[in-house]
Amino acid sequence: MLQVKKLTFSYNDTPVLKDLSFQVKPGEHLSIIGESGSGKSTLLKVLYGEYDSLKGTIFWKEEEILGPKHNLVIGYSFMKYVAQEFDLMPFISVEENIGKFLSNFYPEEKQKRIAELIKVVELENVAKTKVKLLSGGQKQRVALARALAKQPEIILLDEPFSHIDNFKKQSLRRSVFKYLKEKNIACIVATHDKEDVLGYADKMIVLNNHEIAVNNTPENLYKSPKTPLIASFFGEFNVINNEIIYAHQLQIVERSDLKVIVKKCYFKGSYYLIEAILNEKTLLFESKNLLSIGAEMYLEISE
Ligand code: ADP
Ligand code: MG
Repeated sequence: MLQVKKLTFSYNDTPVLKDLSFQVKPGEHLSIIGESGSGKSTLLKVLYGEYDSLKGTIFWKEEEILGPKHNLVIGYSFMKYVAQEFDLMPFISVEENIGKFLSNFYPEEKQKRIAELIKVVELENVAKTKVKLLSGGQKQRVALARALAKQPEIILLDEPFSHIDNFKKQSLRRSVFKYLKEKNIACIVATHDKEDVLGYADKMIVLNNHEIAVNNTPENLYKSPKTPLIASFFGEFNVINNEIIYAHQLQIVERSDLKVIVKKCYFKGSYYLIEAILNEKTLLFESKNLLSIGAEMYLEISE
C-alpha cells in the first residue's frame, strides 16, 4: 500500500504541505479535496516524485518514492499520474497516443488493449482522429487512457473530469472508476467536485491550512461535518444554534419556533432552493414546490 509519513513540502519558504500522514491500500479510492490553492496538485506531484526538497517518507509497498535527484526519469512503472495540464502528441491519432508506451511485440494484444481503453473513456468515435483536432475534454480522456495503458498499481488523477462537459461527465466517471475498481488499481483523485467523490471514494482527505483537516469516509463526513468548510463541499447549509444543518434537513411544517419569510426561489430540478429570512439572517431550505415571495413559513429540522 501507499504509506505517506510526516510529509512536509514547500516551494520556497512558504509551506504548502505540513506533516501529512495517510495510507492508500491496493484498489482503494482516495479523494483529496480542498479549496483552490490548498495544495492538492502539489501533493500529487510530490507523491509522483517530482520534487526532492521534501521531508518525510513516501512508500508504495516496499519501494520508496524518491525525487529527480535519485531517478533519471521521473516516475515509477507501478504509478501513473495525469496532470491538470496533459501533454499529448498532437500529430498522431487517439489510438496511437494511447498505445504510445505499449510494446509492439504483441501487436494483437496491443490493439485489444487500446480498444478496451478507448471504450473505458468513451472515445470510440474519434479513435483514428489526430489529437490536435480534439476538444479539451476529449484530450483529457486520451491522457487518462494513456496513463491506464500499462495497467499501473496506483494512479494519481488531478481534477480528471474538469474539462469534460456535463453531458458526458456522469457516464464517464462511472466507467473510469468502475474500471479502476475492477482492475484493483488504487487511485488518488484531487478534486473540488463532490460528484467525483460521492458514490466512488472509499476515503476522503480535506486539505486546509496546509494540513489534513480530516480523513474519513464520505458518509461519515457528510453525516457529521465538523466545520463549515466540510459542509460546504456537500451542499447548501445553515448554522443554527452552532449546529450545521443542511438545507434539505429543514422541512416546512404547520407551526414551529423557526418562522421565516421567503425571499427568493431557485429552480434546482427536482426541488427549489429557497432563500429565506430568519431574524434578519439568510436561511436556506429546500421545497418540492415553488413558494411565493414574502410568504411566512414555519420550519422544522429533520434528520
Ligand atoms: P490546488 O491544486 O489545491 O489548487 P496547488 O497545489 O496548485 O493547489 O498550489 C498550492 C500552493 O502552492 C498555491 O499557493 C500555489 O500558488 C503554490 N504553488 C503551486 N505551484 C507552485 C510552483 N511551481 N512554485 C511556487 N509556488 C507554487
Ligand atoms: Mg490543482
